[in-house]
Amino acid sequence: MKLKILLFSLLLLIIESNFAQNNYDEIKTTNGVLKIYPIQHASLVLSHNNKIIIVDPNENSEFYKNFKSPDIILITDIHGDHLNLETLDKIDTSKSIFIVPNAVAEKLPSKYNSKIIVLKNKQGIHRFNYFIQAVPMYNLPEESNSKHPKGRGNGYILNIDNKRIYISGDTEDTTEMRSLQNIDIAFVCMNLPYTMDIYQASSAVLEFQPKIVYPYHYRGKDGLSDVKKFKEMVNSKNSNIKVNLRDWYGTN
Ligand code: ZN
Repeated sequence: MKLKILLFSLLLLIIESNFAQNNYDEIKTTNGVLKIYPIQHASLVLSHNNKIIIVDPNENSEFYKNFKSPDIILITDIHGDHLNLETLDKIDTSKSIFIVPNAVAEKLPSKYNSKIIVLKNKQGIHRFNYFIQAVPMYNLPEESNSKHPKGRGNGYILNIDNKRIYISGDTEDTTEMRSLQNIDIAFVCMNLPYTMDIYQASSAVLEFQPKIVYPYHYRGKDGLSDVKKFKEMVNSKNSNIKVNLRDWYGTN
């Protein structure tokens, strides 16, 4: 009987660890393989040739414990779904640099000071053969008291080998988003009343035409946005854009 319980526990352990290991997408780059782990809401992990990039580590620190100390932590904005000091405390940041907008740098404890690189919108930095550029993210119309005033937060474009990855942050369908060029993989937010609806998001995506788009950050005030409809709207006009729906909220 004890053996049965032991075997059953072992099986559960294997299933769990397999789940954690398998829950990613793989994309070949010129010099390696990019793995994309959708984590939750605004958070994702990218791994490429043994480098780990965590984007917006959120409230559940458990999500990150399967990864080694991240090389880069990218943070987009000051709100709790993007900047979570308790989770940062639980992540091994001994090897990490933080790439953040100034508003985030001001909220990070001084123990991280030597690790912080501040990027303003449009500024970029080379690290580990990657070029990381901050891009504007903001609500429309532009007002200083909006949820996301222009200039406070950063979306990012990551150039990893031959791939260009766009992470929208919290934004509407700005002219800057619509005029993006040569994006291979895009993470695009869509939740009201914080960012934009699926109609704005699909219209913008159809304009800048990433090769692959992941709807992310789509839990709004009234529940989850209809990302299946987003996919239909994009693909009814352009079937070449691959829309990857992933389980960002543990609902599948
Ligand atoms: Zn947000």
